[in-house]
Amino acid sequence: NPAQIQLRDGTIISQNDFSIMAGPCSIESEEQVDAVIAHLVENNVKIMRGGVYKPRSSPYSFRGLGMEGLKMWYEKAKAAGIMIITEVMQLSQVEEMYDYIDIYQVGARNTQNFNLLDELGKVDKPVMIKRGVSGTIEELLYSAEYVFSGGNENLILCERGIRTFENMTRNTLDINAIPVLKDKTHLPVVVDPSHGIGIRKHVEPVALAGIMAGADGVIFELHPDPETAMSDGQQSLYFEESSAMIRKMKMAYTLR
Ligand code: PEP
Ligand code: MN
Repeated sequence: NPAQIQLRDGTIISQNDFSIMAGPCSIESEEQVDAVIAHLVENNVKIMRGGVYKPRSSPYSFRGLGMEGLKMWYEKAKAAGIMIITEVMQLSQVEEMYDYIDIYQVGARNTQNFNLLDELGKVDKPVMIKRGVSGTIEELLYSAEYVFSGGNENLILCERGIRTFENMTRNTLDINAIPVLKDKTHLPVVVDPSHGIGIRKHVEPVALAGIMAGADGVIFELHPDPETAMSDGQQSLYFEESSAMIRKMKMAYTLR
C-alpha cells in the first residue's frame, strides 16, 4: 500500500497523488515571502519551499535568515493556508523548527548524516530526504530506513541529480532513479529539476520528464526577481515561467 503522507491542512502526498512544492532557494525578506505566497495562492500550490539554514559550498555565501526568518515566513504562510518545507541542517534544529514547519527537508549534503536521521526518526512530522550528491539509490533507501526504523514512517524521497563527469549542467538528474525508487518502496518520490540541471530555461522539460518517469511530485525554485536572488538565481523561475510550468505539469500528470 502506498504511504499516505498527510499534512496539517489535510493535503496528501503519496504515490496516488501529484504534489507541487515551489519557492525560493533561500528565504530572503518579508517582501519576497509576500510575493511568493501571492504567486502560489494564485496557482493553487499548497506547499512552499525555502531555506533558512543554507548549506553553501562557500562559507562566504549567504547562509540564510535562521529561525527569525522561519518565524516570519510561518506567520505569513499560515495566514495564507500554505504549508512549509525547509531544510534542517543539524540536530538542534529539529526541535527548534518543529512548530513552524510541515515537512523537514534533509539536503543532499546531509543524506548520510546518520545522527540527524536518527533524530528525525523520533518526530511525528514528514521528512523529505534528498539523494546524496554522490549517493547511490541504495544509499538513499538506507537513509530512509534510518528514519523509518526510528519510528517515523512519514517519508518522501527526492531525486535531485547526482555528481557525474558531466559539467555542462550543475548535476545529472537521474531519471532512472524515479521508476526504480517507486518500484522498491511505497514512498512518494519527488523530483527536483532545479538542482537537477541548474539552468533556468531547462527546468521545465526536465520537470515534465520527471513526471512522465513516475514522479509523484515536483519541487522547484522560483523567485520574484531571480537576477537578484541571494542563492540559485540562475535556476530559479520567473513567476510567469512558473505559472506556465505548473499548468503543463498538471496536464502531464493526467496523461501518465
Ligand atoms: C535546496 O533545496 O536549496 C538545496 C540546497 O538542495 P540540495 O540539498 O538538493 O542541494
Ligand atoms: Mn537551491
